Amino acid sequence: AKNVSDSFHSFFHPMMRASYNRKLAIEEGLTGDLKANGFYYTLQPQIDGNSGELIGAEVLSRWVHPEFGEISPLEFIQAAEESGHIASLTSHLCAEVFAQIKEWEEKFGWNLRTAINMTPSLLGNPVFFDDFFRLMEQFKIHPKLIEIEITEQAELSYSPQTLKNLLLCKSKGISIAIDDFGTGFSMISYLTHFPINKIKIDKSFVEKIGQDRKSEAVLKSLIHLAKSIECDLVAEGVEQIEEAEFLLANDCSIFQGYLYDKPLTVIDFEAKYLQTRFE
Ligand code: C2E
Ligand code: CA
Ligand code: CA
Ligand code: CA
Repeated sequence: AKNVSDSFHSFFHPMMRASYNRKLAIEEGLTGDLKANGFYYTLQPQIDGNSGELIGAEVLSRWVHPEFGEISPLEFIQAAEESGHIASLTSHLCAEVFAQIKEWEEKFGWNLRTAINMTPSLLGNPVFFDDFFRLMEQFKIHPKLIEIEITEQAELSYSPQTLKNLLLCKSKGISIAIDDFGTGFSMISYLTHFPINKIKIDKSFVEKIGQDRKSEAVLKSLIHLAKSIECDLVAEGVEQIEEAEFLLANDCSIFQGYLYDKPLTVIDFEAKYLQTRFE
């Protein structure tokens, strides 16, 4: 007798079946106990290039899947968006991060900003923001310790709800950064519509420093734009000394990139940046 799995086999090409199974398994893994499923996060330092000091950190999610091994956040964030799990995933992440910040505040006097990535769909989601603010209260996290990075997997809608949520964040003192600035959907018009106070210059501009005059000119004008509207600036993907020197010479001094550090586990971050600097 033909069972369900036989008809499944004849219908799908083996390759399709493999990617279909992966998609289903990934979606399955996005529910339930995320920690037990292999989720964790790393922290990448943001450094003041003039003094060499730590000024903050960005949270970057990681997933070592029990079956597929390491999965890129680009893949699982997309899957979470499509399957409706992005809010629960991000709330889980916030709870983990807030607990850690509190512990570091008590242990080391930690007082720097931690940036958390948020997709456009979350920004328009009032249920998620209720949860987000509730978690901040629950863990007694001062808003000055938190930054939201608006990631660009989809276009940010100009909905009243998005604007309302961002204004609420701003009024509390949460910093709002626009990610990957100068690329894709991360548009100049966001700067006038939303209460953005930081711009993250995409690594595609940084990597062309010293190679392409036109890109250098665009980079300089992005820096000028940010300064003229009083936005803070972070340069992403700084890998080489020459890049850092060019940026410093052009009045952009906060860096994130492999030149300083890759994203670190909580344990490594604490050992390298907190036990030495905050004690
Ligand atoms: P992103 O927000 O632009 O994060 C920066 C990415 O550049 C990270 O990749 C980081 O590991 C990488 N990177 C840092 N320094 C350097 C460098 O010097 N050179 C190069 N080539 N790369 C560098 P990662 O961790 O693979 O994350 C990819 C993207 O996934 C992130 O891009 C972000 O859009 C998204 N993502 C990661 N975690 C989360 C999350 O918790 N929530 C959401 N919504 N998105 C996330
Ligand atoms: Ca980011
Ligand atoms: Ca980025
Ligand atoms: Ca990016």
